[in-house]
Amino acid sequence: MKNIPLILESYPDIIQAKIEQRERMQRKNIPSSINGQIHELVFEDLKLWRVGQLTVSFKGGDPSLHHQIAQTASIWTQYGNISFDFGYNEANNSYRLWQPGDESHIRIGFEYSGYWSLVGTDSTDVNIVSPGDITLNLNDFDIGLPHNWQGIVLHEFGHALGFHHEHQSPATICDFDWELVYEYLAGPPNYWPKSKVDHNLRQLQSGGLTYSAHDAKSIMHYSFPAWMFIKKENSTCYTPENNQLSEMDQKMMEKAYPYDDNLIAVTDQRRIQNLDQILSHMVDKNSVHTQMHRHLNYYQRKAI
Ligand SMILES: [Zn+2]
Repeated sequence: MKNIPLILESYPDIIQAKIEQRERMQRKNIPSSINGQIHELVFEDLKLWRVGQLTVSFKGGDPSLHHQIAQTASIWTQYGNISFDFGYNEANNSYRLWQPGDESHIRIGFEYSGYWSLVGTDSTDVNIVSPGDITLNLNDFDIGLPHNWQGIVLHEFGHALGFHHEHQSPATICDFDWELVYEYLAGPPNYWPKSKVDHNLRQLQSGGLTYSAHDAKSIMHYSFPAWMFIKKENSTCYTPENNQLSEMDQKMMEKAYPYDDNLIAVTDQRRIQNLDQILSHMVDKNSVHTQMHRHLNYYQRKAI
């Protein structure tokens, strides 16, 4: 099995460096507890969009590819109070095309290596990307579609909606054979140092996330080859290729993007109060400060 190259998602180095820089700035400038909630939880909550509509644009590809991606991504939005506006124009059967300085919430491109997406509102965070930068990459989909393209589209749009990897869930204990995994991923085609393997595979802290019991059927769960686990095919983290949303994915979608008006108001209010608190602590008027203001305007519905 090891001779089939396993290519894992990873951000371009520049984006990864900016994410790490932002985390350092947030930790330095903002206290570990905000309105009684731990720092990480507050920032994860701010990665979820407010309910409503997200605009999406395409850099490259033709209308038939745009149609396939739009149809597949929209499966997510059947289960939550958020929708994607792909800018479909019936008159000439076209979708919204990328423009220089594009400020669409999600900007799809095909030009970078691999498949990746920024997580939720990171796509509009000035610390990570500038207007016009690609926020969701589907490498070479404009040349040809891989056999599991629908699963890839759903997985990447899951990130774009603010969801993390299920195999890294605080409720998931994967019995990775770490020494083998480090050794394998250090080689081609990934060339990952140990720190990158940890960032992408190790379990996330439980404090900061809403999560379900381990759901191996989640579209956000990688299908790893059995050799990566100590228990091989018997590992609880060994799962066949997932190409559709699980029942739990559907439930988590409604949890993240509720329909209930009271719940929406409470959620908006919580985010606004947290941002007020964060801003009151920030003395340095740096790019994190700018972004917190932008988030505040967004949840107050003063900006897109
Ligand atoms: Zn992923």
